[in-house]
Amino acid sequence: MKRAYNFGAGPSAIPTEVLEIAQKELLDYKESGISIMEASHRSKLYDSVHTSAIKHIRELYKLPDDFEVLFLQGGASMQFAMVPMNLYKGGCVQYVNTGVWSKKAIKEAKIQGITPQIVATSEASNFDSIPKINFDDDCDYTYITSNNTIYGTQYKEFPRTSSPLVVDASSDLFSYTIDWDRVDMLFGGAQKNAGLSGITIVIIRKNLLNRVKDSVPTMLRYKTYAESNSLFNTPPVFSIYILNLVLEWIESKGGIEAIDRLNKAKAKILYDTIDNSQGFYMCHAKKDSRSLMNVSFNIKNKNSQLETELLKEAETANMIGLKGHRSIGGLRASIYNAMTLEGVEALAKLMQDFAKKHA
Ligand SMILES: *Cc1c(COP(=O)(O)O)cnc(C)c1O
Repeated sequence: MKRAYNFGAGPSAIPTEVLEIAQKELLDYKESGISIMEASHRSKLYDSVHTSAIKHIRELYKLPDDFEVLFLQGGASMQFAMVPMNLYKGGCVQYVNTGVWSKKAIKEAKIQGITPQIVATSEASNFDSIPKINFDDDCDYTYITSNNTIYGTQYKEFPRTSSPLVVDASSDLFSYTIDWDRVDMLFGGAQKNAGLSGITIVIIRKNLLNRVKDSVPTMLRYKTYAESNSLFNTPPVFSIYILNLVLEWIESKGGIEAIDRLNKAKAKILYDTIDNSQGFYMCHAKKDSRSLMNVSFNIKNKNSQLETELLKEAETANMIGLKGHRSIGGLRASIYNAMTLEGVEALAKLMQDFAKKHA
């Protein structure tokens, strides 16, 4: 069997240990004679998975009691619409525009007739950094994207805001500890750092649940999910099952603190390789905004011929998913929780050898 080093941005690598458990349990889950995929979402069998996933999220994130953990569908993209639907009260809303995903969220607020204030943006420099932001106003909410998957930029610290802070953490879920004093809602699709697509995790402070107007459809209210333990209708059972296995895997590695240390070591190897290449490789992100999850880079003078060649060499060496997003080109190594140190070291070695050959 061949397992590639998967540097894809999403869907992305899942720990091999998790896939092996899923494989072993696929036909006969815990001696029930059925697959978890075939289990009723109202059964005891499934309930233990559902409850365990929520418990692990609470424990790993050290979540205070006044937060709810909700499981939704529709991807992070549906949250772009649900956030204003549930949190807008007729006042102002503030967005920080750090790239494609922020823009999509801003667009959804506009569709609802809201005029968002863009309090900061790095658009003029093609989103190469996290802008410095000052929030003064008391707005209905403030919205940021913690990790910008395409450009490889990431907040090192969440801003302090006087209005509730909403964070799209789709591409850095469960990769660092969170200061919940600063955050009121955090969401993300699971397929980048927490398992499969089909499940969106929403963590929300309870006092925000009752803002929603009666005109909002039932399935689009956070309240509906909070009041039904996210079992109002059939949840994506298999995605939640894999999420639970991923969370147990994080726990077995020593929790989020340990994962964070490992992620920092992994990212350092690649950024050092870029910084020590005498300009052969160039990082898209400015130094103080570099992401620990996505390393986006070019070869000098945006030499697309060499970039294609490097991609080919990587593929031959069993490393896939390194092509950069079409909006900025170049290469991108996504090194989420599931990417091993060994995989990152192999890529760094390949990059160093390639630079030597073509310098
Ligand atoms: C991938 C991504 C999304 C979109 O996620 P979907 O689940 O496909 O809707 C949103 N925000 C960020 C930061 C992402 O990386």
